[in-house]
This record gives sequence, C-alpha cells and structure tokens, in this order.
Amino acid sequence: ADTALHRAKDGGGNQVAVFESHMGEAIAQSFRIEAELRHALAHGELQLHLQPQTLPDGTLSGAEVLVRWQHPLEGPIPPGRFIPVAEQSDLIVELSAFIFREACLLLARLQAAGVDLRLSVNLSPRHFRKHSFIPWLKGLLADTGADPHRLTLEVTEGLFIDNLSETAARMDELCALGIHFSIDDFGTGYSSLAYLKRLPIRELKIDKGFIQDAPSDPDDAALVDAILAVAQNLHLEVVAEGIETPEQATFLSTRGRIIRQGYLFGRPEPAELWLQRWTTPPL
Ligand code: C2E
Ligand code: MG
Ligand code: MG
Ligand code: MG
Repeated sequence: ADTALHRAKDGGGNQVAVFESHMGEAIAQSFRIEAELRHALAHGELQLHLQPQTLPDGTLSGAEVLVRWQHPLEGPIPPGRFIPVAEQSDLIVELSAFIFREACLLLARLQAAGVDLRLSVNLSPRHFRKHSFIPWLKGLLADTGADPHRLTLEVTEGLFIDNLSETAARMDELCALGIHFSIDDFGTGYSSLAYLKRLPIRELKIDKGFIQDAPSDPDDAALVDAILAVAQNLHLEVVAEGIETPEQATFLSTRGRIIRQGYLFGRPEPAELWLQRWTTPPL
C-alpha cells in the first residue's frame, strides 16, 4: 500500500489512483486469504485456543474458544484477518463446523473427567442462518456426547438486525436443548434493548473497550454500570472481557457477580496446554 501511495503522490497526488489501488489490493488479499484458508482447513493449520473465564472468588467457570491459524510460512494469522473474509462465503460454514466439532469433543472430554466447566463458542451468523444448522448441531451433540447445557453460543447484535422472528424461533429451539446465548461485544453493535426481551439471552459480554477505559473514563464507567443494571434486572449473567490491569479488575470487584476474562487472568492458549494448566488433575 505504501509503494502505491508513494507512486501516486509522485505522480501528482491522484487520489482516485490511490483509492483504486487500495481496493484492488484488499480484494486480492481477500482472495488469497480465502484460498489459503481452504488449504489450512484441509491441512490441520487451524487450532482451538481456550481463554479462562473466572468468577469473582477466583473459581474457574469455563473458557472461550478462540480459533488460531498457524500459517506455515507467515506464522500466526489473527482471526480478525480471516474470520471476516471467511464470513463472506460458505467457507465460514466449513470453518465454523470444524471449530464446533473440536469444541464439542473438548466438552465431552471435560464431562468424562467430571470437570464442571462451560465452553463459549463464537457463532458465525452465516452458519447460524443455514437451514441445516440446527439439525447439524443436534447431530454433532449426539455424536460427540457433548452436553448442550455446558455450551454457550456467543452472538453479536448484528445477528438481530433482520428477520428477528426467525432468529428468535431458531434461538428458542437451541435454548430448549439447554444451550445458552451470550451477546458478545455488548454495547458496540446495533443494539436495541427490546431484543433482550424477545430473545432467549442468558448472558451479556461487556465489550473490552468499555472495560479497559472504565477506571479512567467516567463515561465508560457509567456505561458499564448501566449494562450491569440492565443485566441485574433481567437476571442475566455478565462477563467482562479484555481485563488487562489490576485497576480494571478492582473497578469490577465492587460491582457484584461478574465473570472475568482477559490477559490479567489468562491468555488464550492451545487447548491441550490450557487443559493441563487449568484442570486438576490435568486432563
Ligand atoms: P471476540 O469473540 O470478542 O473475542 C475476544 C477477543 O479479545 C479475542 O481476540 C481475544 O484473544 C481477545 N482478548 C482476550 N483477552 C484480552 C485482553 O485482556 N486484552 C485484549 N486487548 N484482547 C483480549 P481474537 O482471538 O483475536 O479474536 C477476535 C475476534 O475474532 C473474536 O472476537 C471473534 O469475533 C472472532 N473469532 C475468534 N475466534 C473465533 C471462532 O472460533 N469462531 C468465530 N466465528 N469467530 C471467532
Ligand atoms: Mg467472543
Ligand atoms: Mg468480544
Ligand atoms: Mg472512552
């Protein structure tokens, strides 16, 4: 991008040329990521990482599943770079299916060892909207023996924008199996609190932007308190994500039952390593 920019500037600052070359580059990069991701899926370059979620007394309540791509040449590629690309096509369905299968196998292992933990999986909107999604997930739960009561699906507010009645019906069907729903990045999306009444939501995940600034910024602190008030009145669980500093943890410590997630408590780690570190005896 830099070379293109310099070239355009040298040539008299043609803004259109800069814009087009950036667009072309972005599209070419998306195609390349898509092709390489297909290859990665088929060649075992994708791995599940787990990040701990803990209660105020320090007890572990579960973990969020976060996918990682270890590219053989480029090294780790962050999900922020490939999930949105995958979400543009049905490639996300394949990727999401892989993630769910691995997560359910992990859940079944935890259950078999008598370890009482939940796993939260990020739900792809495109996968969720497939007509095959619910029967497929039921089949997966049956195949793996994973207990749906220990599974939380993290959704973002974007999922509720269109076709709310169909979305509600599907969520209700999954809720009836025992699955919990959590709203991820709560407060940053297209949010109308009316959804909280209409949909079977169990948990709000306060976006890390609010959490990180809350100790120093009264506006963020007020927003966190407003979210906590809504959650308390509607009897919803609350997770705070992105906790990095003791000040952020202290801010939350006087505010009731909030599940904690962030680098301060534990970074996302490869599932096997995580199990060794966080389960006793280590799985
Ligand atoms: P998310 O679901 O909101 O995940 C939380 C992100 O915050 C993760 O980034 C996590 O590594 C990061 N994080 C955790 N603690 C801290 C902290 O203390 N400080 C900071 N600065 N960050 C923290 P990650 O893993 O890069 O994932 C980014 C996004 O990509 C996720 O946001 C989610 O939207 C998507 N994603 C990741 N894994 C999956 C997956 O398995 N399936 C789907 N569909 N999407 C995924
Ligand atoms: Mg999440
Ligand atoms: Mg989040
Ligand atoms: Mg702020």
